Amino acid sequence: AQKMDKGLKKTRRTFSQVLNELMANFRSVDEEFFEDLEETLITADVGFETSLRITDELRKEVKLRNAKKNSDVQKAIVEKMVEIYEENSEGENNQLNIQQGLTVMLFVGVNGVGKTTSIGKLANQYRLAGKKVLLAAADTFRAGAIDQLVVWGERAQVEVVRGNAGGDPAAVVYDAVEKAKAQEADILLVDTAGRLQNKVNLMNELEKIKRVIQREIPDGPHEVMLVVDATTGQNAMVQAKQFKETTDVTGLVLTKLDGTAKGGMVLAIRNELHIPVKLVGLGEGIDDLQPFNPNDFINGMFK
Ligand code: GDP
Repeated sequence: AQKMDKGLKKTRRTFSQVLNELMANFRSVDEEFFEDLEETLITADVGFETSLRITDELRKEVKLRNAKKNSDVQKAIVEKMVEIYEENSEGENNQLNIQQGLTVMLFVGVNGVGKTTSIGKLANQYRLAGKKVLLAAADTFRAGAIDQLVVWGERAQVEVVRGNAGGDPAAVVYDAVEKAKAQEADILLVDTAGRLQNKVNLMNELEKIKRVIQREIPDGPHEVMLVVDATTGQNAMVQAKQFKETTDVTGLVLTKLDGTAKGGMVLAIRNELHIPVKLVGLGEGIDDLQPFNPNDFINGMFK
């Protein structure tokens, strides 16, 4: 929880800073103010549509409440954000879908976003919780990817099932599922290649991996986690959109939230893509991965 606070503080400070700056220049609830607010939200990567919506609804809300004071207007902004987030997250689950028997999770995402790191961190958490964990190095496309996962496997003290570089990713997954069943493992985390530049190939590859899993575990994979880098802001949004068109993404890992003012994109992801953020990365260390709690996050950001 301390790490979460630390990470959030950074997001909070920067996001608050821009908001505070806006409120410091506040003179009256006029059109100029709403335009500034809209621009501030867009800059914080809250997302274009969501920023417009927040500003539009706030215009009405402020009139309705007859809010004139700086503090009242600020309060209305926070409340509107929480309201919109909650409305959009209705019926969605922020928890990872963990099974009684073997749980299989696929990890997708482009290079450099923190996919391997997140898998390593999560593997370590489950191992510490007494679960039997296996990793599958199914990103056979990139030469360094297998070695990198092996390094994280050692760090997290869990076994990595691997094949040859350039080999068939589905064959690696097949081996990993067989091994997981034989060992009665609880968790299998699968690292996959994320080549968005060739969407058809990527789609075929992921479908093939899913079929291999489903042959043995009919309701699997239980999660398809997309990893995106929060520091890339709107780029991460574009990636998420593209992956969503390619495969059924069930949840998001938002990494590097410790180093960015773009915390507002949590709202954009929810409102424009309807993908639940399930995990957040708050640093490079093995312990720097936390479950995501939307209410804590939004409330914390504006305190
Ligand atoms: P991959 O190519 O997607 O597997 O990315 P990696 O897992 O290799 O991570 C790329 C870089 O991002 C590495 O230097 C990681 O240490 C760093 N990284 C990953 N997650 C986080 C995070 O939550 N915060 C910070 N600050 N760095 C991170």
